[in-house]
Amino acid sequence: MVRCAFCGKLVPRYKAIVIKRGFHLDKATMQSVDKRFVSQVEHKMYVCPSCARFRGIVQIGKSRKSRTPQKRRG
Ligand SMILES: [Zn+2]
Repeated sequence: MVRCAFCGKLVPRYKAIVIKRGFHLDKATMQSVDKRFVSQVEHKMYVCPSCARFRGIVQIGKSRKSRTPQKRRG
């Protein structure tokens, strides 16, 4: 189980959405700095599906069944 970064709810790891937060390091910087430092800089966040949906982190309807198009009147 992992904890949602936004609401603090416990969610199963397979359900949680992982976001990577941190500085953007280019390759040259990555090679010059210690790898342990990079892993510290890169910060993993777990988010529950409802928060992810609410915050627009994931887009619904893409992976799952797509919504049926609305019927036009007339
Ligand atoms: Zn949440």
